[in-house]
Amino acid sequence: AAASSASVIAAETPVLAHNYHPLPVVVARAEDVWVEDVEGRRYLDMLAGYSALNFGHRHPALTAAAHRQLDALTLTSRAFHHDKLAAFAAGLASLTGLDMVLPMNTGAEAVESGIKLARKWAYEVKGVPADQATIVVAADNFHGRTTTLVSFSTDPVARDGFGPFTPGFRIVPYNDLPALEAAIDETTAAVLIEPIQGEAGVMIPDDGYLTGVREATRRAGCLFIADEIQSGLGRTGRTLAVDHENVVPDVLLLGKALGGGIVPVSAVVARRDVMEVLRPGEHGSTFGGNPLAAAVGSAVVDLLATGEFQRRAAELGEVLREGLTALVGRGVVAFRSRGLWAGIDVDPALGTGRHISELLMAEGILVKDTHGSTIRLAPPLTITREDLESALGSLAKVLG
Ligand code: PLP
Repeated sequence: AAASSASVIAAETPVLAHNYHPLPVVVARAEDVWVEDVEGRRYLDMLAGYSALNFGHRHPALTAAAHRQLDALTLTSRAFHHDKLAAFAAGLASLTGLDMVLPMNTGAEAVESGIKLARKWAYEVKGVPADQATIVVAADNFHGRTTTLVSFSTDPVARDGFGPFTPGFRIVPYNDLPALEAAIDETTAAVLIEPIQGEAGVMIPDDGYLTGVREATRRAGCLFIADEIQSGLGRTGRTLAVDHENVVPDVLLLGKALGGGIVPVSAVVARRDVMEVLRPGEHGSTFGGNPLAAAVGSAVVDLLATGEFQRRAAELGEVLREGLTALVGRGVVAFRSRGLWAGIDVDPALGTGRHISELLMAEGILVKDTHGSTIRLAPPLTITREDLESALGSLAKVLG
């Protein structure tokens, strides 16, 4: 007989690091927006792998690309060329309006690589004295879990106990242009921010903030690095969250959905004059840009080039916003949304975000809490209006 959810969870406990606290669902298969557990119960996936599954589970164009590539070539390392990387890089550059691509695997690696790139650029091009480069970042950021990235986290859970930390970062409040400008000086290599802070609870800065960051960095002669690992690739109703202000950063960090939910694929995408400071041997990754990743990544770029997913996110984002607006005062204290992405502050009297997530799970809806009483919705961009409305109905029921 197939294992029960309880037996699978019990088997994990003694052998798996306890660095997560998952909802008690054991998923065995999935298609598009639906996942099914080991007991055959179906759930609507309203988290979508923290935006790694923007195209749904096992999108046919993506699995076809993966299958084709599995039968041809999966890995060369970058010691050799392979026949899929040029098309991936060209497609991604064209999609984002930037010039050159540094392929990596995970989001954290892309951020690390962006930091290294900015520091190198600061020493070689801007003329910052050796080892003096600074990077300005925002409070409540989430950029990943490496020792350098948690060095400038303001979340004690992410940071405490992991020192000593990497120096060279200045933390300013998010959505505060005067503070940002005051922190920039002649040592500043870059400003690194999320155009929308996902893990912080889908915090959307005021209109004009991203334009202001662009102008301040240009004036000061430092780089603007946009971490769009969670906000990018269709989620907000545009290809990139910075597109809402028609802003082009110097360096763009992508991940999550770039691998179509199939393989880890991330990338640093940058202006040519910035990326060209990296020379052979100075940076790399055994798996970065591997043929399987490049084939899937190219298929992702092709999907986004149609504009269909951005359009769906924008249109259904209106449905989501209307549905959530109707719940304000009815269990929802406040919410923020852009496209098919929302952070919802639930009335704390109704319970923690975790508790609400468990109630939604019982209704067949999978979501994840962020902090305190905030839950986040980020369904696959392939979701139908009917399924979205049904999820909103379940939310109303749970909060009512
Ligand atoms: N940057 C942002 C904005 C993210 O949301 C995340 C993951 O949630 C990361 C970086 C880290 O990505 P990964 O978990 O693939 O290392």
